[in-house]
Amino acid sequence: MAVVLAEVVKEIENIAPKRLAYFSKDNNGLLVGDYNQNVEKLLVTLDVTEEIVDEAINNQCQLIISHHPVIFGGINAVNSQSKEGRIIIKAIQNGIAIYSAHTNLDVAWGGVNDSLAKKLGLKVTGVLDSIEVSKHYKVVVFVPSEFKEKVLNSMATQGAGQIGNYSHCTFTTLGEGTFKPLQGSNPFIGDKNQLEKVSEVKVESIVPSNKLGGVLSEMKKAHSYEEVAYDVFPLKNNPDNYGLGRISKLDNQTTVMELAEKVKKELNCDAVKVYGAKNKKISKIAILGGSGGSLIKQAKKLKCQAIITSDVDYHQGQLADELGVSVIDAGHYHTEVVVIDHLVERLNEVLVGKVKCLAITNSCPYSYI
Ligand SMILES: [Zn+2]
Repeated sequence: MAVVLAEVVKEIENIAPKRLAYFSKDNNGLLVGDYNQNVEKLLVTLDVTEEIVDEAINNQCQLIISHHPVIFGGINAVNSQSKEGRIIIKAIQNGIAIYSAHTNLDVAWGGVNDSLAKKLGLKVTGVLDSIEVSKHYKVVVFVPSEFKEKVLNSMATQGAGQIGNYSHCTFTTLGEGTFKPLQGSNPFIGDKNQLEKVSEVKVESIVPSNKLGGVLSEMKKAHSYEEVAYDVFPLKNNPDNYGLGRISKLDNQTTVMELAEKVKKELNCDAVKVYGAKNKKISKIAILGGSGGSLIKQAKKLKCQAIITSDVDYHQGQLADELGVSVIDAGHYHTEVVVIDHLVERLNEVLVGKVKCLAITNSCPYSYI
């Protein structure tokens, strides 16, 4: 029972694609290790510390998957003088690879924020801060009716018409095309200098920018005409709707105090910090695992009356109060650790019989006294 690390990486990146990173300078991916090494057992953790590497050694794991990147902001040397250096040296000496999925795991559907919402029993009704993952285009092509299927399939196999869990999403309308072959042409049908009328189908489909070249090239190859008539329109909508944080519209109103008590209990916190009104009735809240002080204004913009997050500082808390957004600060660790079991469960589904996955949830660096 083992697979090469590259296969495990592929499965992780299906769950949390690297392109979803919220910051362009975020450090997601395989940070330590050899893609060709074998993995029989892996552990999932929030942070990589020397103790976690020891735990991986003791459990005979060949891979550590962490949420917080083990290398962040750039390091100039890997030696025993720094904490990162000691972790990396110990991992390499013991044949342990380290993979980090940071803000891509925050943004991904089924990642940190959905795990947090699920743990709190809150229905997700939207995203807090949408990101444009990739630009999309509408490709419109005019095809003789009998070539419709061939052209449509050639475009779909290159990634046209992919919306959520659906492929081959297109719209077609029947019409009439005209053309007159001129000197030097080699028409598929019709005679030179004669106006031709042909039954044609207009095929429309959505294409992400990174697939546009492939879609147009295959579409032209599958098309019967010497000169293909097609249009490419840039779109302003983002059909994938990815973003950081989640919104939850409650079916029944609650108070900030009741919600704070629930958060404390469900996340197993010793304490939660509350800014702003406590007895206010609320029906729309923002949920953001990890540091969320910078998105308080965004929560206000979306008419949220409260936000569940962490690391909100004194002045951010004052600002939230001024804006009428109550803050429930449950701590960085507690708002993120919920993703560990969830990630292990999802990896187990795809790596069953190949890799054993362990959850490590004892790395909280702070305590309340
Ligand atoms: Zn974090």
